[in-house]
Amino acid sequence: MTQVGLKGLIEELDQAAKDEFASGPEVVDKGHELDVDELPVQARRWHKVTDAVAVVADLKNSTRLGTGKHAKSTASIYQASTGGVVRIFDEFDADFLAIQGDGAFALFWGEMRYERAICAGITIKTFSLDLVRRLEARWPNDEELPKTGFKVGVAASRLLVKRVGTPRNPNQQEPVWAGKAVNYAAKAAQGVDRHVMAVTGTVWDQAEKYEYLTYSCPCGDGPSPTIWSDHTIERLPDGDLEAQGRALSSQWCAIHGEEFCAAILRGEKKRDDLDHAKAQEAAARQRSVLALKAQRERAALRARIAGLR
Ligand SMILES: [Zn+2]
Repeated sequence: MTQVGLKGLIEELDQAAKDEFASGPEVVDKGHELDVDELPVQARRWHKVTDAVAVVADLKNSTRLGTGKHAKSTASIYQASTGGVVRIFDEFDADFLAIQGDGAFALFWGEMRYERAICAGITIKTFSLDLVRRLEARWPNDEELPKTGFKVGVAASRLLVKRVGTPRNPNQQEPVWAGKAVNYAAKAAQGVDRHVMAVTGTVWDQAEKYEYLTYSCPCGDGPSPTIWSDHTIERLPDGDLEAQGRALSSQWCAIHGEEFCAAILRGEKKRDDLDHAKAQEAAARQRSVLALKAQRERAALRARIAGLR
């Protein structure tokens, strides 16, 4: 039988909070070389990583995956979906990953953190489409099968981390991450539709250096820069520029994905097949400037005619 000394527990917790707030904890700056296995659990010491990129993959409509008569299919969906995302994070050498809610999140720091994080995110989008195709083929015409699939968010910030939990019981300890990245990546994921990846302003600043990311491959109408759109991440603090992000609608191409992903992970930024696409973009910009000018002239003329009457 569970017995709790409630009064003593509450008093002890209150004293611990009082002690904690009376003097700030120690912070050890680890730069870009954080080691999660070294995190203290008892000492009031946090480790700081200079810049970490968080990727959150959130399963859309997962609350509607019932456990009643569909318990077995729901179990299969979780295994395939969450298992798949964890595998992807691992393949891209995530420095930390955790299953969280109806999805998973990963953190990347150190060398090529933005490249690994963004490529993992695009891989999750690509996997998500295949997953839903399989789901719908396995349970066709099932009214109760919700429109599901992964929504992906990516954000970056400095983070503080400490192992928190019961001392001497590793099963009851988890690293706790304090800082914007995880929270912002979760909000970015929540705000988009399935199979879409949203990135914050800082992450876009890194992504846009790569022509392998900013333009689509030569298939179809490509290479095209329209695969990304401006996207405001909702529910971030007022005035936070991180909210001015971008959203990616496309995924890895079956033909070019392998080559593009490898190039990005090697740090290659420039492509040599974009002269035509860039010339077209410049022409389109020029046309819109001219159209705007003509529109203004017509409006001025109309105003003059109206004045003459
Ligand atoms: Zn292609």
